[in-house]
Amino acid sequence: MRIANKTITATRLVKDALDKAHEFKDYNIFTFLNEEGALKKAAEIDAKIAAGEKVGKLAGVPFAIKDNFLAPFGETTASAHILEGFNSPITATAVAKLLAEDAILIGRTNLDAFAHGSSTENSYFGPTLNSHDRERVAGGSSGGSAVAVALDIVEFATGTDTGGSIRQPASFNDVYGLKPTYGCISRYGVVAMASSTDCIGFFTKSLEDMDLLMSIASGKDSKDLTTLDDYYNNSEVAKAEKVGIIKDFDNDSVAPEIRAALKSKCELLKSKGYEIIELEMPALKYALAAYYIIVPAEITSNLSRYDGVRYGFRSDKSTGLNELYANTRDEGFMPENKRRIMIGNFVLSSGFYDAYFLKAAKVRTLIIKEYEEAFSKCDFLLTPVAPNPAFKLGEKANDPVAMYLEDMMSVSLNLAGVPGLAIPAGKTASGLPIGLQLVGPRRSDKDLIEFAKVLKEDK
Ligand code: GLN
Repeated sequence: MRIANKTITATRLVKDALDKAHEFKDYNIFTFLNEEGALKKAAEIDAKIAAGEKVGKLAGVPFAIKDNFLAPFGETTASAHILEGFNSPITATAVAKLLAEDAILIGRTNLDAFAHGSSTENSYFGPTLNSHDRERVAGGSSGGSAVAVALDIVEFATGTDTGGSIRQPASFNDVYGLKPTYGCISRYGVVAMASSTDCIGFFTKSLEDMDLLMSIASGKDSKDLTTLDDYYNNSEVAKAEKVGIIKDFDNDSVAPEIRAALKSKCELLKSKGYEIIELEMPALKYALAAYYIIVPAEITSNLSRYDGVRYGFRSDKSTGLNELYANTRDEGFMPENKRRIMIGNFVLSSGFYDAYFLKAAKVRTLIIKEYEEAFSKCDFLLTPVAPNPAFKLGEKANDPVAMYLEDMMSVSLNLAGVPGLAIPAGKTASGLPIGLQLVGPRRSDKDLIEFAKVLKEDK
């Protein structure tokens, strides 16, 4: 708007964004900065505006992409050594839609390699620091994108959420983060983690921005057959009356300050005339176990393409073909990537398929049904995003199970395909951001964004 009104130029905005990116360099947010390209694009937009030509809805707005979105701007590495040197010839549909509205790409952001993680510490390029406390993790896997928005370097950033990777870092950094309904935004051109739970979404500083981005990015894409029709731009916002809270999450495994934040939001809702109902969702306690079987199984398959021949890095130690594959994968993957490949192969192996993968698939169906039942009793659910606020760097890095437990409240949404919006919900006594998530039935993304405005007003 300020650009169209000529009170500021795109060039000024881009320069400010790049200056800030340099100022916060030691937070390790970016894996690539598009300095020349961004300034060139800004000059083009300024010239168009000066000439009175039409520009896009996001004209001149600086943004960042998580480094698992393919686009011919720098290398697409997914923060993994094995993809270093990979220059994508194609552009992810979601990124293409943003560029078509004249948003300006400032850079690529750091993540846990291949999006496997909850802290960005699994990145080949080292961790990103939390925006509110440099001794703590940014959250993950989209840590770089969350911090880029939280530190005001860019207006918005893209993320991927396979099991919480948008919502958890959003909640650790005091910004909004939306995991849309599965199939709402095209996954074409995004490095696949687990194809049945991967979702593309955004980090923003406002709900209005989230709505605008969703209206631009959502919709059917012939290059991703799992995309849904464009319901986002073709539905009326439903009126909400009842909000559910999940009894099973109100226990000692959740930090007291997070439980207090949830209670205070419930009081706010009651004072505004909404009914709060308590629900039991007993299958959710199995969500984490099911997720860490189904997702590694899909990871195993999706990561099999990295062989040292087709993409990026190739080990030079090898004498034969099999060795080339083995050495490339050994040197190129991070320990967490390898752990998931091992687990995935194990749960899919003929001797263990029935005991693990099949059982997890059945649990997934129970979880889907439990959400359907919950939404027959209430319009939305309000829950914590994670059991704790941002933890210390290194605190869980050597304990995979402790790290996986971080995801206990986020993964069930991905298994069920339902949308979740992380909203800022205050701070702890020591100043760490607290986030809550608003969960709705499939296709209720727009309703969630609207309803979140009701929750905001006590800030
Ligand atoms: N933390 C979860 C995991 O490690 C989620 C990751 C994600 O959503 N990409 O699998």
